[in-house]
Amino acid sequence: MSDHRPTDAAAKPAPANFLRAIIERDQQAGTYEQRRFAGSPGDASHHAAGQPDPARVRLRFPPEPNGYLHIGHAKSICLNFGLARDFGGVCHLRFDDTNPEKEEQEYVDAIEEMVQWLGWNWDAHGTSHKFYASNYFDFMYQAAELLIERGLAYVDEQTPEQMRASRGDFSKPGVDSPFRGRTPAENLARFREMRDGQHPDGAMVLRAKIDMASPNINLRDPALYRIRRATHHNTGDKWCIYPMYTYAHPIEDALERISHSICTLEFEDQRPFYDWLLERLAETVTLPDGRQVGGLLQHPLPKQYEFGRLNLSYVITSKRKLKQLVDEGHVQGWDDPRMPTLAGLRRRGYTPAAIRKMADDSGASKTNSWLDYSVLEGCLRDDLEHKAHRGMAVLDPVKLVLTNWAEVFGAPGYTEPCTQPALPASAVPEGQTPPPERQFLIGNEVWIEREDFEETPPKGYKRLFPGNLVRLKGGYVVECTGCTRDANGQVTEVLAKVIPDTKSGTPGADSVKAKAAITWVAVADGVPAEVRLYDRLFSEPQPDAGGKDFLQALNPNSLKVITAIVEPSLAAAQPDQKFQFERHGYFVADRKDHGVGGKVVFNRVTGLKDSWGK
Ligand code: ATP
Ligand code: MG
Repeated sequence: MSDHRPTDAAAKPAPANFLRAIIERDQQAGTYEQRRFAGSPGDASHHAAGQPDPARVRLRFPPEPNGYLHIGHAKSICLNFGLARDFGGVCHLRFDDTNPEKEEQEYVDAIEEMVQWLGWNWDAHGTSHKFYASNYFDFMYQAAELLIERGLAYVDEQTPEQMRASRGDFSKPGVDSPFRGRTPAENLARFREMRDGQHPDGAMVLRAKIDMASPNINLRDPALYRIRRATHHNTGDKWCIYPMYTYAHPIEDALERISHSICTLEFEDQRPFYDWLLERLAETVTLPDGRQVGGLLQHPLPKQYEFGRLNLSYVITSKRKLKQLVDEGHVQGWDDPRMPTLAGLRRRGYTPAAIRKMADDSGASKTNSWLDYSVLEGCLRDDLEHKAHRGMAVLDPVKLVLTNWAEVFGAPGYTEPCTQPALPASAVPEGQTPPPERQFLIGNEVWIEREDFEETPPKGYKRLFPGNLVRLKGGYVVECTGCTRDANGQVTEVLAKVIPDTKSGTPGADSVKAKAAITWVAVADGVPAEVRLYDRLFSEPQPDAGGKDFLQALNPNSLKVITAIVEPSLAAAQPDQKFQFERHGYFVADRKDHGVGGKVVFNRVTGLKDSWGK
């Protein structure tokens, strides 16, 4: 199923990615060839009754719907969906919604939208693979009763403090809870009381019974269930006990027949419990009373693999901290163009292809890595270079008056049409017809950048100064004659004479030699535009390293709003359309505000070259 999936990764040599090697090895060994899949998640008997799995591997992206996706999630999305695409598999979108407190429908919707925006989808073999972990609560409960019956789980009534103290630490083994020796029958009765709401929140937990002396603290009887009276967005008030993440996640993977469960490095120490739990639920055993129990899951079981998380310089990727930036008003919302959320990056003008390229190029390794922000910007420039239409905008306008205009053209109000290619020839891919030309006017007054005039030019200055010839790009050559100033000495108008018969694209264009070509927009057809000049949100490369207060690192100048003058083709932009403003960099028509009430609004995406840290 390669229907709607991006194919940009297919052509080039793959970057270092140990996960690809693992999947290749598994495919050669045929590890997952005999699996059956019933078309929907379920236990061993459900899948046994299904078809041979048409997916050669199954992966999943399992966000908790408690915030907006950020660039780190994009890494995980592209990794999982990309591996599924490349290895004949399917990637599930699973909402890991086992925690009733912080999850909201708003986040569910936003997550779906952004995964699709990145170019992926979860439909394959005729069915949707969008799942909710909360739909597995019944199975999780049943599995917990199995563990209790087998003497592998018990209800612990110690206080959280007692539990913490008796867990020990790296140098000290844990101490058994006084409740550890209860019989399965006692534990089962207690657990059912927990479920039935007979005990207050936090009064007791269900714990696995593994090994309080294990060198891996995660195996010292980890908690499986807690009591929490909270209305869940999916299951409402049906449950007052909720599974812990470490218990729920392996089960979710197994019910969905995931083959490769990819997570970030901090879960490495959880892997032994992941395997322990799934093995216990898969095996069939005979209880002392002669009953055969178990067999809830089917082999081959999912396997967990950990990779290094993506960290981007000048960026924070903790949902909690991003929420704080929004809640405290440091930014204007989750989709503020300075935010590293996918919604923010999209509004800033980032393209899905650029983000996918960053994710692909950074591969997957077993160590956490820091990626320089300029790498992401570079991926974007590579993408926009051949796509973004060109246009002229004057960001710091001052008027240039062509004093001999009426003399040359017969009337001061005469305007002359000019055309320029929407993309330079070098940017049009071979074999493709160039897009239509842009049209704009030239008249007796044009806007130029204030920095393009110097009455007394510094050494090497080639732009406008008295006596110098300069081309108005795509228009005429002009000869500067001086300027007027206000009482403060500020230049109010730059003065020049137009040189007749020198218009770009006419036979006379080369008759005089101009020292430089400058960008400009005619007063006659220029349109004022609000331009939002964004800079990095933080002034330190690792704003939250070592538990630092990241708010201290906020860049006070991360947003500057100016009024620019843009040529008509830019003013006619569609929301979200990206342009290269000649010499200034890449800009996008703001997807929310552009066009509202007739306003023209652009966001600066990035400069033309890497200007970060310079
Ligand atoms: P946060 O700490 O910001 O809440 P999280 O990892 O808890 O992030 P989840 O919604 O649980 O957020 O994440 C969904 C998936 O995205 C997980 O598999 C997680 O490992 C992965 N992920 C999150 N951040 C990164 C990152 N910086 N690099 C790579 N993968 C990431
Ligand atoms: Mg999480």
